[in-house]
Amino acid sequence: MKAIDNSKLDKIVANARRDSDIRKSGYRERALGMYPWICGRCTREFTRANVIELTVHHRNHNHDDNPSDGSNWELLCVYCHDNEHSRYIDNNALDLGAVKAADATSNPFANLAALMAAKKK
Ligand SMILES: [Zn+2]
Ligand SMILES: [Zn+2]
Repeated sequence: MKAIDNSKLDKIVANARRDSDIRKSGYRERALGMYPWICGRCTREFTRANVIELTVHHRNHNHDDNPSDGSNWELLCVYCHDNEHSRYIDNNALDLGAVKAADATSNPFANLAALMAAKKK
């Protein structure tokens, strides 16, 4: 049996992690490029100066569901977004902006290295 090349494995994990980061940060840019910068609830308008307060809400609350037609996205200001999520007690992961989302997201590859290591034995 061939030994697993650990440096290669590290690279695969790093790449997968990076791709996942790109996907996560990418949907905000895509949604902002697709929809007018207006909150879908309070109709507040945003400009480059304050667009940081405009967030992308996932209609079905699944952050990994990012269809390219944008049908799962809704632009909401941070206040309305907060409101929207407090109505869904089953959803405990806030996606108010990329920073919080990144904090709340556990590493999906945390177990991969361990699994691979276990296989090697
Ligand atoms: Zn709003
Ligand atoms: Zn949301």
